[in-house]
Amino acid sequence: MTTRLAVLGATGSIGRQALEIAHAHPDRLRVVALSADTNGIALAGLGVEHDVPRARLVTREDGPGALEALATADDVDLVLVATPGGAGLRATLAALEAGKSVALANKEVLVVAGHLVRALAGGGAGERLRPVDSEHAALWQCLAGTEPAQVARVILTASGGPFRDLAPEELDRVTPAQALRHPTWRMGPKVTVDSATLVNKAYEVIEAHWLFDLPYERIDVLLHRESVVHALVELADGSVMAQLAHPDMRLPIQYALLLERVPGPAPRLDWTAERTLRFGPIDARRYPCLEIVLATALSGDLGAMAGLSTADEISVERFLAGEVGFGDIPRLLRRGAEIGARGAGSVTSLPDIIEIDAAVRRALAPAAVS
Ligand code: MG
Repeated sequence: MTTRLAVLGATGSIGRQALEIAHAHPDRLRVVALSADTNGIALAGLGVEHDVPRARLVTREDGPGALEALATADDVDLVLVATPGGAGLRATLAALEAGKSVALANKEVLVVAGHLVRALAGGGAGERLRPVDSEHAALWQCLAGTEPAQVARVILTASGGPFRDLAPEELDRVTPAQALRHPTWRMGPKVTVDSATLVNKAYEVIEAHWLFDLPYERIDVLLHRESVVHALVELADGSVMAQLAHPDMRLPIQYALLLERVPGPAPRLDWTAERTLRFGPIDARRYPCLEIVLATALSGDLGAMAGLSTADEISVERFLAGEVGFGDIPRLLRRGAEIGARGAGSVTSLPDIIEIDAAVRRALAPAAVS
């Protein structure tokens, strides 16, 4: 059977690699719709190259309905959500509600609305909700066939980003160009800056919580510079299972799109070559954002989490524009969480999340220039 695929965020790094996978499996995957929010020329080129009937440039001015329409069209079975930031939220919820499967590469969707996604998908990771992140793809594979009660804890690995060896006091002076130089992964700007602050890793802890129904106490993070071991599962008896592969997103993308193991383009590990895999604790002083995001998640205040997520989007945009320093990001995240706060244990609806997003944008975005 051919799966009819819509790719939201087609011109980004994940979108392009997904199209490469689809192109290699024409009997299994047919791309029926593409979207991007900028770069209409590149989008049109991808549409022609992959013979896609609908390739649409969807900007903020089009409103959220435009992406939802693409994601819920009758001829779509599976939606790959690879838009950065909160842009993919409504489309993800609408697709799940319309009975589509979703391959989720957008972290913010689970960070702000994991509870809504789970409710619509009928649970966590599975056929309807397919994680595309390398760490969650790894957990998904390691946890297959394991009873949740037998899992002592799961461990997500972190490369540590470009500033893992910088003295903490030097962090205030780093430039956008330095933050965009990730040591192991090539990704879009939002997730690359998030990897430098480790907001990205904290988000992955939250994703793991929702995808695998794990309490936060059983999700840990470990520094692992080589990005070869993507996640570990420690079982009740102390045995540990891990997934290892080259840091190449085409592997988790292919697994999410095809739901089976077939030969793919990702290079294989050469086990005859001597290699060292290092593991160690995260230096909390270097990554204040990690602590802030995790404390917000642990508080159980989903309004604060939504506010923090919008604040992070704004922080990254403003840092890349040279308007705020790298060292200002933690303060902005705290401010976003405060604005969104609805009290410990509060649960948000989609309208709540939209309202919080707007309030944080009003407070933290630079005054509009007319
Ligand atoms: Mg990841």
